[in-house]
Amino acid sequence: MSTLTGRLSAIASIAGRIPSGSTVNFSDESPETVFGSSTFSLALMKDTLKPETYASVVDTIKDGKKLPETAADEVADAMRRWAVSKGATHYAHVFYPLTGITAEKHDSFYDPGSYSNEAISKFKGKTLIQGEPDASSFPNGGIRATHRARGYTAWDVTSPAYVLESGNGTTLCIPTSFVSWTGEALDTKTPLLRSMQALDTQARRILKLFGHEKIAHVSATAGPEQEYFLIDKTFFYSRPDLLAAGRTLFGAPPPKGQEFEDHYFGVIPERVIAFMYEVDRELYKLGIPSKTRHNEVAPGQFEIAPLFESANVAADHQQMTMSVLKKVADKHGLACILHEKPFAGVNGSGKHVNWSLGNSTQGNLLDPGDTPHENAQFLVFAGAVIRAVSKYAPLLRSVVASAGNDHRLGANEAPPAIISVYLGDQLADVFDQIKAGGVTTSKQRGTLNIGVDVLPDLPKDAGDRNRTSPFAFTGNRFEFRAVGSNQTISPALSALNTIMTDSLDYIASRLEGAPNLNVAIQNVLKEIVDEHGSVIFNGNGYSEEWHAEAAVRGLANLKTATDALPEMAGDNVVEVFEKYGVLSEAELHSRYEVAVEQYVKQVNVEANLVAEIAQTKIFPVASGYATTLADSAAKLKAAGVSSSISTLEKVAALVTELESDIAFLKEAHSGASEISDWTFKVLPAMLKTRKTVDALEGLVPDDSWPLPTYQEMLFIK
Ligand code: ADP
Ligand code: MG
Repeated sequence: MSTLTGRLSAIASIAGRIPSGSTVNFSDESPETVFGSSTFSLALMKDTLKPETYASVVDTIKDGKKLPETAADEVADAMRRWAVSKGATHYAHVFYPLTGITAEKHDSFYDPGSYSNEAISKFKGKTLIQGEPDASSFPNGGIRATHRARGYTAWDVTSPAYVLESGNGTTLCIPTSFVSWTGEALDTKTPLLRSMQALDTQARRILKLFGHEKIAHVSATAGPEQEYFLIDKTFFYSRPDLLAAGRTLFGAPPPKGQEFEDHYFGVIPERVIAFMYEVDRELYKLGIPSKTRHNEVAPGQFEIAPLFESANVAADHQQMTMSVLKKVADKHGLACILHEKPFAGVNGSGKHVNWSLGNSTQGNLLDPGDTPHENAQFLVFAGAVIRAVSKYAPLLRSVVASAGNDHRLGANEAPPAIISVYLGDQLADVFDQIKAGGVTTSKQRGTLNIGVDVLPDLPKDAGDRNRTSPFAFTGNRFEFRAVGSNQTISPALSALNTIMTDSLDYIASRLEGAPNLNVAIQNVLKEIVDEHGSVIFNGNGYSEEWHAEAAVRGLANLKTATDALPEMAGDNVVEVFEKYGVLSEAELHSRYEVAVEQYVKQVNVEANLVAEIAQTKIFPVASGYATTLADSAAKLKAAGVSSSISTLEKVAALVTELESDIAFLKEAHSGASEISDWTFKVLPAMLKTRKTVDALEGLVPDDSWPLPTYQEMLFIK
């Protein structure tokens, strides 16, 4: 047996590792100088474009107006000059296909001139605005036949273009939407942009009712907190499961796990902080406002969060953040693992998506504000959220469903699969009072008149935090905590914006033309609480009582992706997405198909890995050890020592069990056709095999165990 070499030499090489020389020094180059230096920013456009062209770009970005075609040539030329000055030789339309990844097609700026030897650098408005990647191999869920595989990328003016430096060169990256030649969305950005436009229209109707005269473009905002694991790269490469599936499919719990709770907010290890500085610098260059960083709960787990931005830009920046994390980790000899549940027995990783809506004239519309008048407006927006989440809870569950996230949702560490809303004590109390027939008493003041103008002042801080809620009010925004660490945030944001649009439309229609606005607000809010109050839950979402109570309340508990994914194209979802022009029925169905396909592909890879690792790595070592033990037993017997080795019996039994586990898994695997087979037959068979292997890990001599252990991966830095 020569299996010891890989794993043990990995440890030896990490122990002898020379830390990478620091390349980041913020005292030479301040964050202010670095920030946005790789982006084609508004400031740059102001300097390089004609005033009228610049004005139309600003109108597009700030107010969602269409960019006149005449402006495009000038912008393209300025963009090219700038990019070339930054060393760019190529440009790429960056787009976000339904697989959730980032895709890019690179083209050179240079055309070899036909009559001279000079290469001419060109970039026209037309090429900036539209591209045509060969789209046939991107999943489209049956939206296009392959022979009509045309797909177009269209420049998203609202998300800044940037240059990306890599090993030997620089590329100008242009964020784009990706649509079929018949105009159907083939990506995650297009519906997000559509949903933001719809949200703006309806939010303004509400603001008008509150008497605002100047109302700027209302934008959804998002601040995603990203959790991730870092392990040494050498371990990563010695684990085929991590390499190919992003998570460990085997591994006994380490002697020390997260039970001491000594990692959360602890001192950041030296090697990791060096990594974080470099991540921040790369993000700053790209204009990504990275803000907080800290250790997370599990050993080896960390978090990064930016300042919130307009939802569409935040979504692009989030995708960029994930690639920067991976790239920089690699430079530091680390692997950044974004999977939702890379290690069993310790916490998984999520992506808390903080979400709100607001504009430059009225500010954050989910901020309670200081005056009762602002409070009433706030309550309308908060009421709209409650109605939206209650009415479309299954949709919200479906947009976070994936093979990876299934391991997290419902485990007692992440929000449960039941979608409920946490309001905090004070806000819940206000809604209770509304339900009881209006706010008639106030703890803060003396006598009150009836009517929304006299709702009690709402505290800025909603009070306690509740980590167990999937959808929590956190003082001036909601935090959707069920999103997976590996997922793009766009589908969640598109869903939130669309269902919020629906609620705002509903409320505006009820209030417009009402003889007495205050009374009408009271009534509509009371009706919302009466009808949708059951979605509000301020208790412990991990408890069994909650699961029982949620069932009594009739809330959906869609435990697995198999249960949840069909909701993505449920009847009321189709209705609301079509109504606001976000996605058509065909587009929604295509998304569902792609999500199912992704799920099945993922579990399929995992099942292959389990069978292969168990058969080719674990079985030889375990059966070899059984033979060694049997030899010892025989020799002892020959020497006249009567002894039975109980370890031999245990190992031999597990080896036999392992063979039958593998056979059982292969059978389940080859018989799987429906998505439910993968969830309810293949996954349990994989788990059964894992159990046997993990038991063997505790018996087989350590120096012949082929896979890096949890202890090593999580604690050696
Ligand atoms: P915590 O871990 O306590 O929830 P963090 O500071 O890690 O807090 O993350 C909070 C996130 O919420 C940040 O990205 C922050 O910018 C974002 N956020 C704050 N206000 C808003 C808002 N109005 N809309 C969207 N996101 C917001
Ligand atoms: Mg948070």
